[in-house]
Amino acid sequence: MKVVKGVKFAYRQTPQTLGLLSTFRDMVNDAIRICLAEKIKGRLKLRDRIYTELQDRYDVVSCLPYSVAEVAWSIVKKHKRWQRRPYAKRLMFKMEAASFSLNYSILSLPFRKGKRVLIPMQYGDYQRFFLKDKTLKRGSVTMTESSIVIAFSKEKSVAMPLRRVGYDLNEKSIVGSDGTHHDLSEVARLHTLYGIRRSKFYERHPHDRRLKKKFGGSRREKDRVNQVLHRVATLMVDKARANNEAIVLERLKGIRYAHQRGNAEGKSRRRRIAQWPFRRLQSYIDYRARWAGVPIEYVSPSYTSKTCNVCGHVNTKLKVTDRSWLCPSCGAKLERDPNSAINIERRGKIRCLGEVRPGARGTDEAVKGNETTTPILRAEAPKSSLPVSPVDWTDSAEPILNQSKLA
Ligand SMILES: [Zn+2]
Repeated sequence: MKVVKGVKFAYRQTPQTLGLLSTFRDMVNDAIRICLAEKIKGRLKLRDRIYTELQDRYDVVSCLPYSVAEVAWSIVKKHKRWQRRPYAKRLMFKMEAASFSLNYSILSLPFRKGKRVLIPMQYGDYQRFFLKDKTLKRGSVTMTESSIVIAFSKEKSVAMPLRRVGYDLNEKSIVGSDGTHHDLSEVARLHTLYGIRRSKFYERHPHDRRLKKKFGGSRREKDRVNQVLHRVATLMVDKARANNEAIVLERLKGIRYAHQRGNAEGKSRRRRIAQWPFRRLQSYIDYRARWAGVPIEYVSPSYTSKTCNVCGHVNTKLKVTDRSWLCPSCGAKLERDPNSAINIERRGKIRCLGEVRPGARGTDEAVKGNETTTPILRAEAPKSSLPVSPVDWTDSAEPILNQSKLA
């Protein structure tokens, strides 16, 4: 499996880099105009159409029209649903790996015929790691006014994991089905802290648009929150790699929608959820896992917290505020977050080593006539090797697991 990671570098702007950026943008806009005027359908057709014309008009090397066509086509495609005419507004530049060269930290981009633009990139320890690693392949380079992003890629084989671990991401913590617990109250605290600062600022300057732009979205708040999220994502993925686990997460589609007005949640809770960067955290975990070769999958989030992990009963009366509950059907005592983590884990379909699955060859006989226990059978995992969990729910699940194995 090929995994790609974009690594960001800083660089110092020069008249050459600015010229490169603005020429590229002009070319993209020309290409978009041609594409719309002549109703060209397809990236390759656009490329063939503009290839010689733009090369001559801007006096640039022949590889530039290729990436111009690619960028222009992606803008045209994206703007099909829009009302206004599409055009490239921001200064940018993109080029495929075959055309540029990277000599340690000096990026060399072909531009005018016979001339290249040399850009010394600034880097820290993180970037140095990627520059030095000879096993990594270089992908495309994307340049904006402020930064350069180079895509590095490698082939990574994903080994079959020993077990799956489901994670319940919620407002204040991440809880794993194996008892892992990561505290995230720091994120909520930062949002509250900066939220109060923001509202105080708006009280003093309610209509000042210029200041609003300056102080409205705090860069510092975002940076501090990101730091926390990156730390947790790294911990999760490192642990998964060390213990050979697969990560199972909830598909987070429409989390904001689910928490909109009129669903019996308070105003402050809705605001906190809306600010909570779930998707950002998930994307950090996702790309770290892929890069490390840790299998990751997403399962349906419906009723993960309302389903009893012991008997499968769906408790529709469960409120958002209920942190623990007694299953009305089997009487099991359930903690909200660990319960959903277990349910998330069970929905995972990644194959694990030594796992017997219903429907697999040779196991059909054993499973037949015993349909009710199959969901529990699927969840069997080497629980004994797990770190000792501080929560008591594993004990209640154990006897039933054993029964299903015997049956
Ligand atoms: Zn139950």
